[in-house]
Amino acid sequence: MRCTGNVMIVGGGLAGWRAAEAAVAGGADVTLVANGTGNSPFVHALCCPVLPEDSVEKYIQDTLTSGRFGNDPALVETMCRNSLMLKEEFAFDGTVIRSLGSSVPRCVSIRHAVGEIALEQIKGRLKGKVCVENRTVTPEEISSLHAERPELGIVIATGGWCGKYGFSTNPQYLKGDGILIAEALGIAVKDVDEAHVQYEPTVRLEGPKRGVPVITTLLYEGARLLNADGREFLPDSRLNKDELSEAILREGSFAYYDLEDVPVGKLLECKMDPDERIIKVAPAPHTSLGGIVIDTGCHALGRDGKPVPGIYACGEVTAGVHGFNRLGGNGGTAAMVFGTIAGRQAASEMKN
Ligand SMILES: Cc1cc2nc3c(=O)[nH]c(=O)nc-3n(C[C@H](O)[C@H](O)[C@H](O)COP(=O)(O)OP(=O)(O)OC[C@H]3O[C@@H](n4cnc5c(N)ncnc54)[C@H](O)[C@@H]3O)c2cc1C
Repeated sequence: MRCTGNVMIVGGGLAGWRAAEAAVAGGADVTLVANGTGNSPFVHALCCPVLPEDSVEKYIQDTLTSGRFGNDPALVETMCRNSLMLKEEFAFDGTVIRSLGSSVPRCVSIRHAVGEIALEQIKGRLKGKVCVENRTVTPEEISSLHAERPELGIVIATGGWCGKYGFSTNPQYLKGDGILIAEALGIAVKDVDEAHVQYEPTVRLEGPKRGVPVITTLLYEGARLLNADGREFLPDSRLNKDELSEAILREGSFAYYDLEDVPVGKLLECKMDPDERIIKVAPAPHTSLGGIVIDTGCHALGRDGKPVPGIYACGEVTAGVHGFNRLGGNGGTAAMVFGTIAGRQAASEMKN
C-alpha cells in the first residue's frame, strides 16, 4: 500500500466518494482506491421527496411496492428518511421527474447529470484531503489487510456485477469484485442470482451507442413503444421497469422507441439527439440488486448475522434495499445515503 490511513474505501462511485467525505468529516485519515468511475456518472436524476404532494411515507411505500416487498424494510426506511439530507446539501435545479413505479414525481437533478456533477462537487470539496489510488483491489489484499491491521476500517463500495454480461448498460470492469472480497472475509451475501438482476427496458441495440439506455421517463412525455410490426403495445403507463421489460420481451426480442411526439425541448433536456426519433431497443442487465448483507449502520454482517468488526459496505454492492426491482432513481439515492452512513460509522468506530 502506498497510502496508510485508518479508513480505506474501495470504490470511486457515489457510494465511495460520499463515504470518503463523511469519513473525512469524522476525522479519519482516508485512502480511496478505485479502478474506474463506475456507474455513478450515468445517474441523471435521483429520488428525494421534495414536492408538497409527496412524503417520506409515500416514498417508502413506492420503494417497497416496486421491490415486490422483497426489500429489507429497515434499510428502505433508512434510505427514504435520510434522502432529505440530499435536499439540504445539493442545489437541485427544480426539475422533478416521475420515474417508472413512482406514484408522484420524485426524481430530482442538476442539469440531468446529477451523478457527474455531485461527484465533481464532492471531489472538489475533498481535494488534498483524501489519498487516491487508481488500481484494482483483490480479495487476497483485503483479507490480509484486515488480518494484519485490525484498526483499519474498510468500506466496500465496489458497485454491482452487470458488467459481466455481454450486452448490458454497465462498464465491463463492474463484474462483482465486492462479492468476492466479502466471501474472502467471511461476510454474508444474499440475492446474488439472476432473479435479482434488474433489466433496463429500453437499451440501444445498434450503432456506436449500443448499450446506452434511452430513458424510460420519456414515456411520460409522449414517447411510444412499437413492436416489430409497428404496432404500439405499451399497455399501462404505471408499469415499473421489470414489467416493462417483460412487456417488450412478450412482443419479441426488441422494440422501437418512437420519440416523434416528444417535444424537442424535452429531448434536449435529456441530452438526446433531437434528430434521432426511432431507436431500436431491448432490455439489458442494468442493476444488480443483491450483494453484501448490511445493517442500517452499513456494518457488513458475517454469516452468523453479527457485524464483522471494521468492515462496512454501501451502494450497489449491497443487498436488501431494492428487493426484486429497483424503483427508478433509487440507485443514486441509495449510494449517496448509505455511502454517508458507512463513512460516518467507519470514522467514528475506528477512532474509538
Ligand atoms: C447507464 C446507467 C444509468 C443510470 N441512471 C441512473 C439514474 O438516473 N438514477 C439512479 O438513481 N440510478 C441510475 N443508475 C444506477 C446507478 O448508477 C447506480 O446504482 C449507482 O451509481 C451505484 O453507485 P456505487 O457507488 O455503488 O457504484 P459505482 O458507481 O458503480 O462505483 C463502483 C466503483 O467501484 C470500483 N471498483 C469495482 N471493483 C473494484 C476493484 N476490484 N478494485 C478497485 N475498485 C473497484 C469501480 O471502479 C467504481 O469506482 C444508472 C445505471 C446505469 C448503468
